[in-house]
Amino acid sequence: MRKSLYGMKLEEMMEELGFEKKFQARIVRDNLIKGVTDFSKMTSLSKKDRERLTRDAMTTTVIEKQESESAVKLALRLSDGLIVECVRLSDGKDRYTACLSSQVGCAMGCAFCKTGTMGLKRNLEEGEIIEQFVHLEKLGEKISHIVFMGMGEPLNNFSSLMEAIQTFHDREQFDISYRKITISTSGYVPGIHKLCELELPLKLAVSLVTADDEKRSRLMRINRTYPLGELKKALISFQRRENKRITLEYCMLSSYNTGEEDAEKLRKFLSGLDALVNLIPWNPIEGMDFKTPTDEEIRAFTNELRKRNINYSIRRSKGRDISGACGQLASNIE
Ligand code: SAH
Ligand code: SF4
Repeated sequence: MRKSLYGMKLEEMMEELGFEKKFQARIVRDNLIKGVTDFSKMTSLSKKDRERLTRDAMTTTVIEKQESESAVKLALRLSDGLIVECVRLSDGKDRYTACLSSQVGCAMGCAFCKTGTMGLKRNLEEGEIIEQFVHLEKLGEKISHIVFMGMGEPLNNFSSLMEAIQTFHDREQFDISYRKITISTSGYVPGIHKLCELELPLKLAVSLVTADDEKRSRLMRINRTYPLGELKKALISFQRRENKRITLEYCMLSSYNTGEEDAEKLRKFLSGLDALVNLIPWNPIEGMDFKTPTDEEIRAFTNELRKRNINYSIRRSKGRDISGACGQLASNIE
């Protein structure tokens, strides 16, 4: 497999590209960050180098692009032929967010999620994570925020994830502050502890889905190993370090986790945490038995949340029509 130039140290890049001087690698890196990946267009390189380096610097290629009003989804082919997806979300003003994948497929197998039906194909490398961002920026708008809410469980690919985040953060490279980067996890407790130890002001989101242990174990295998009590302990220690509000993603499944007792369990889970509950009405996936709650059901549940002073927001699905919405990422391109 070809290694991506993105995220490479300058010394490594010198060796890879046969440069003698560091400044040559720096020229390439500056171009790469701007999305110039064709060496022949890197005009500050010598003519000899431009002619010598004929391959494209990217290891991934865009094979499909789908657009909706507020989202653009790209399917990328990796150098080993596997396919991964990423999405650029817009808030309708001028803020653009890259939703990136950390793995091809996912090992967690959550019952309501399409990526989960694929199983884990493999972890993405640092450069493959960064290249998703570069392809999304090449669409033409500056992207200011990153969320790891694409395919895969980011905390199960910890080292590549953190390497990519360091490169995104690096002032000489993408210069995106940690506060603008969100990692979403299904609740992989050892990963949350590891994240705590790094003491970085990254944002954390957790796919809670339900605060009922039995129901959660039925939907999410991870809960059988790391039940809610352990998850909560990990979140409390994360918050003790970072002192920052976390997001709990609550995928709403009709008649499953939207009742009064569900709101009550959620209240209990939230006590001692500073969290915002992000309600995501389930995005339909063919072949799955769940149902999207009606507006009335959503309203009834949010009433229960308000009665309990629970902070919530509702994520109206962006990009549902292009299957770029939460939990709908799984490639059907061969
Ligand atoms: N694996 C990580 C990152 C993926 S984020 C995680 O699970 O947190 C994907 C988000 O979409 C998660 O919050 C998940 O709960 C949610 N989700 C998955 N399938 C969904 C679906 N069909 N409809 C709505 N949300 C879904
Ligand atoms: Fe994996 Fe997250 Fe989907 Fe669960 S919800 S299967 S952890 S991508």
